[in-house]
Amino acid sequence: SDSRHYVGRYAPSPTGPLHFGSLVAAVASYLDARSQAGTWLLRMEDLDKPREMPGAADDILRTLAGFGFEWDGEVIYQSKRDQIYQAALDTLINMDLVYPCNCSRRDVIAIAHAGIEGPVYPGSCRSGMSKQRSTKAWRVKANAEHVIFNDFFQGSIDHHLKTDIGDFVIKRADGLFAYQLAVVVDDAEQGITHVVRGADLLNSTSRHVLLQYLLSLHSPHYAHIPLVTNAQGEKLSKQTNAAPVNVADAGHHLVKAFQFLGIDTQLYSSRDSLNNLWTQALQDWNMSHIPR
Ligand code: GLU
Repeated sequence: SDSRHYVGRYAPSPTGPLHFGSLVAAVASYLDARSQAGTWLLRMEDLDKPREMPGAADDILRTLAGFGFEWDGEVIYQSKRDQIYQAALDTLINMDLVYPCNCSRRDVIAIAHAGIEGPVYPGSCRSGMSKQRSTKAWRVKANAEHVIFNDFFQGSIDHHLKTDIGDFVIKRADGLFAYQLAVVVDDAEQGITHVVRGADLLNSTSRHVLLQYLLSLHSPHYAHIPLVTNAQGEKLSKQTNAAPVNVADAGHHLVKAFQFLGIDTQLYSSRDSLNNLWTQALQDWNMSHIPR
């Protein structure tokens, strides 16, 4: 259906070491890319310096290498790409698709209604900033009532961007570019054709599709796969104290990840070489087998 060569990617945020949930996302995007003879790129999403854990970026790369992932080309670091994001912001400014906003978090909460991911900003600064505050964020005008896209795993998605998310920030008041802009710019610039990532990002995708449309960028194919949860039903994350995966147990963790992703691992042995495990999994990979 798409004649372009498959280019996939994995885009971890270095907020902590790799845990089983992030491993599963990496494995899914890797298997999907490599099973279609695709390229697989690594991008370090280290924009949010305040949330970064020192050493985590290197630790993640070492861990991925230790698990036998082989990425193509150089790793890209978002922290070095401010100029590229600023160029995209300037394009949007010139087209009058964004506006500066100097409302504080408290201002926003006081006037917002509840959306699917928190307060929905009613757009007060669209007609100019009224507050005495010099720092400002940049918001995109989220005028789209419906953003419709097809997700390979979840099916047809219809998000009510305007009412459920509202005008969203792409450059923060502290001067940092938001994930929502950086991911769109980078996916386009790296020529990504397929995004396979965790379902926690599904709500962000309508923002990405809108930005792709506004910036005249090609939308990649999306697949949002189920999240790994702990015994309490919470997403594995740094906040829920997910344990790091240990390279010494790589075979064991890989087989568990394959199993989570719907591969029948009965004939797999976690003591087999990583190379053999990957070869087997590449043959057995079928995204539609992931349990729902
Ligand atoms: N950096 C994001 C995360 O670790 C993933 C972004 C993406 O795959 O688009 O949650």
